[in-house]
Amino acid sequence: MALIVQKYGGSSVADAESIKRVAKRIVDTRRAGHDVVVAVSAMGDTTDELLDLAGQVAPIPAPRELDMLLSSGERISMALLAMAIHSMGFEARSFTGSQAGMITDATHGAARIVDVTPVRLREALDEGAIVIVAGFQGFNRDTRDITTLGRGGSDTTAVALAAALEADVCEIYSDVDGIFTADPRVVPKARKLDRISSEEMLELAANGAKVLYIRAVEYARRHGVLIHARSTFSSSEGTLVIDSRRAELLAQGEHMEEPIVAGVATDLGQAKVTVVGVPDVPGKAAEIFKVVAKSGANVDMIVQNVSAASTGRTDISFTLPKSEASTALKALAGEQAEIGFESLVHDDQIGKLSVVGAGMRTHSGVSATLFEALSVAGVNIEMISTSEIRISVVVRGDELAEAARVVHTAYGLDGDADAVVHAGTGR
Ligand code: ASP
Ligand code: MG
Repeated sequence: MALIVQKYGGSSVADAESIKRVAKRIVDTRRAGHDVVVAVSAMGDTTDELLDLAGQVAPIPAPRELDMLLSSGERISMALLAMAIHSMGFEARSFTGSQAGMITDATHGAARIVDVTPVRLREALDEGAIVIVAGFQGFNRDTRDITTLGRGGSDTTAVALAAALEADVCEIYSDVDGIFTADPRVVPKARKLDRISSEEMLELAANGAKVLYIRAVEYARRHGVLIHARSTFSSSEGTLVIDSRRAELLAQGEHMEEPIVAGVATDLGQAKVTVVGVPDVPGKAAEIFKVVAKSGANVDMIVQNVSAASTGRTDISFTLPKSEASTALKALAGEQAEIGFESLVHDDQIGKLSVVGAGMRTHSGVSATLFEALSVAGVNIEMISTSEIRISVVVRGDELAEAARVVHTAYGLDGDADAVVHAGTGR
């Protein structure tokens, strides 16, 4: 008998029929003899609809009240799910985040979990009940207020529960079959992976893969939680996200080498800012990025050109999330005289392509394969950045999909048939 934590995303509980289907799946797990703890998201697009409503009554909703509002979405689905399970003859009990002991810091809208005290969940499990917990929310001890964990936070709720309860596995259900070598809607020949190491998953999630939320993967990695990403709509195995060391051992045990590249991620959510004609003297990069950081922007890639000797000036380009570009540009424009640059260029038509694989540490020629594939396809590279297990390039946004397909082929990742894509979003 195992303790299994299951998380169901909004698309899995979008209406009454879906809730009943999920209830059946939970009951089946219970029937197989396991203890089950469920973290559930708000139904369908509830969170977006609530946000929209809030915007209609107040231009800038008070953060405390916004969390009160948004946390109600998950309370609806948790109660309905518990009712559905009852009606199938099983004992189920729903709990809000605070009842479940999800203790967070006080940051409304983006709270971080600081402690999990699942006393009531343990009691309910001991009494033989199936436990349902509202995802995405917690409680701060100092302010005694309800908090939410940020969009997609139910993944983190599930992983945190799995860690605190020492569950055997944390199953994250969505409307896609697991983790793919690329987004199947962009690369039809993408293959589902049986397993991926947590460090590779982190890089993929950080670079545009949307199946799992990065904070949940981080939490799982830190606390040794085994994640199984799978589909609500099929019973087939999904993808295991396992500890990196274990991934290596498994590969050795099977006498096969891990593929050098695990997957290709694409991201159309970034913009590029170029600061033109920056005086090429010490301290200018520091000035620029201090201003950008103060605007709250999260800078990703940075490239500085060689300066033209005749002018003593250089250009510095960087990328950041599209939604943060205008604030950063305004902040920079305000310091133009002080910093002494000539002008600013804003480009939101870029796409970022990343290849990720732990095998890059020990194999050479990985970047050459990438550049060769892009060159054959006639795709121009505008920026390059690397980490130990990732290479990313910025290309024109309208060439991103084609770039992803040729790169996927070049690394031998293509499957035999086109991937089956449900209408899903992966949430
Ligand atoms: N309902 C929240 C959202 O849509 C949390 C979640 O789904 O994980 O972001
Ligand atoms: Mg949702």
